[in-house]
Amino acid sequence: MPNSSLPHLIESPQEMREMVEARRRAGARIGLVPTMGALHKGHLSLAKASRQACDVTVATIFVNPTQFGPQEDYSRYPRTLQADLDLLRSEQVDFVFCPSKDAMYLPGFSTYVEPPSVANSLEGMIRPGHFRGVCTVVLKLFTSAPADIAFFGQKDFQQALVIQQMSRDLGLPITIEVCPIVRDPDGLALSSRNRYLSTEERRKALSISGALHEVRELVAAGHRDARVLRTAMQKALLGAGIDSIDYATIADCETLQELDQIQDAAVALIAARVGTTRLIDNEVLAPPSGATVRD
Ligand code: AMP
Repeated sequence: MPNSSLPHLIESPQEMREMVEARRRAGARIGLVPTMGALHKGHLSLAKASRQACDVTVATIFVNPTQFGPQEDYSRYPRTLQADLDLLRSEQVDFVFCPSKDAMYLPGFSTYVEPPSVANSLEGMIRPGHFRGVCTVVLKLFTSAPADIAFFGQKDFQQALVIQQMSRDLGLPITIEVCPIVRDPDGLALSSRNRYLSTEERRKALSISGALHEVRELVAAGHRDARVLRTAMQKALLGAGIDSIDYATIADCETLQELDQIQDAAVALIAARVGTTRLIDNEVLAPPSGATVRD
């Protein structure tokens, strides 16, 4: 039975750290699930993974201003704290760290993390400063809730690589776990931003997972020329009436450098706009070894 007194809501970074440190001293393994709230089953899958691997789960809800550009949706980003707490209670999350903007960024705040080079392409190119804000807030969350394992979603493929690299580079004493993308039954990757979509926009948005699926099929059928695959994705997106494509590309799984040819595992990544809503999705492509190569 879920414990109705859970989760404990904590707003102070210092109180959060003291709680986590006390649990660690008592021998508990701590899992951390950083989110911006407006929770859905994708977020809850991370909480489930943490519950399975750890004794204590801390979810964080913080809409981080420093990772949004001036023209982005920071002020209108959905904030649904009460519903989020109910969902986290149903997953038996122990603590929810929900700091204010002022508690995370004290007056005079001026120290930022310079992101690793894997942050330079794709999202980093389209959203200048985004990963600087992400790395800074994630490092601060790791400091406030010094967990053993932090759980991130493959949905934000580049973000997961950036955080893994930052953790390696800075020697952070935390393991980064990346969990699979959770989708609606029709294939649309769950996102807090899906709630902005009208019925017609949602129909168009489905072409994103559709294009990724098509690429996976092409790779399974032996296609290896990344230009052919990129063109197929663009045709599928534009054909469905997607308003604009930020990128639809095939990249190396570790460096995110764009590929001409698929040899080993690669990743197809899409960022596109439907109306005013920007959506991202991706699919790891593993060419079957020994398959017939078509191009
Ligand atoms: P956000 O609240 O959008 O910052 O996301 C918080 C975490 O949830 C990130 O690690 C995301 O990658 C992850 N996440 C978001 N959507 C999904 C999804 N559909 N499936 C799995 N993880 C997700």
